[in-house]
Amino acid sequence: MVEHQLKARGIKDSRILSAMGAIPRHLFVPEPLKEQAYEDHPLAIGYGQTISQPYIVARMAEASLITPSCKLLEIGTGSGYNAAVLSELAKVVYTIERIEPLAEDAKSHLKEIQKSNVFVFLGDGSLGLIDKAPFDVIIVTAASPEAPKSLLNQLAKGGRLVIPVGDALTQKLLRYTKKAEGDFEVAVLDFVRFVPLIGKEGWTL
Ligand code: SAM
Repeated sequence: MVEHQLKARGIKDSRILSAMGAIPRHLFVPEPLKEQAYEDHPLAIGYGQTISQPYIVARMAEASLITPSCKLLEIGTGSGYNAAVLSELAKVVYTIERIEPLAEDAKSHLKEIQKSNVFVFLGDGSLGLIDKAPFDVIIVTAASPEAPKSLLNQLAKGGRLVIPVGDALTQKLLRYTKKAEGDFEVAVLDFVRFVPLIGKEGWTL
């Protein structure tokens, strides 16, 4: 996976390559799909949700410029796999999931691999996590019609928000860098397809 899907597609950061090599992805994949855990595509994890393709996990991590001292917020815990990878790169990872059984499964997977710097919350991640803000990095693993204001507000100065923005079929992967309060530099990184961010500042049901 690391050689053929990540290095071959231009992922260079050695910390990310090591993290992706270190986390046992099969533990986060449902039993019938375990044989496909390291394949080059997303997989169903139940409740209409997915664990992202390995390359996308690495691409988003690389784009968000994570340093070992980072306080990081992930929106969309899903299986917990991405949070586990991010916890190898950042000091602390907070992650929010709106579907309770997924949040509970993610907690037990993360416990299984003894992750002590990842904290799973249940709730609407489109509103961020005000009690733990500001964040150096926010990564959203679900697609939003626009970057939620709450997430932009909860970035530290210099902080990065990496988020897929667009409609249900295709989105641009964007990186917002906070230059000052209300002043952001925006970079288009890629074209992607994610499940929707459902919430007050995402899509409504
Ligand atoms: N990061 C995940 C992993 O490693 O398995 C994959 C995430 S999946 C592509 C997107 C997740 O976002 C789903 O589990 C979905 O339930 C969740 N989600 C959607 N809207 C949300 C919201 N407003 N707050 C929190 N989670 C949300």
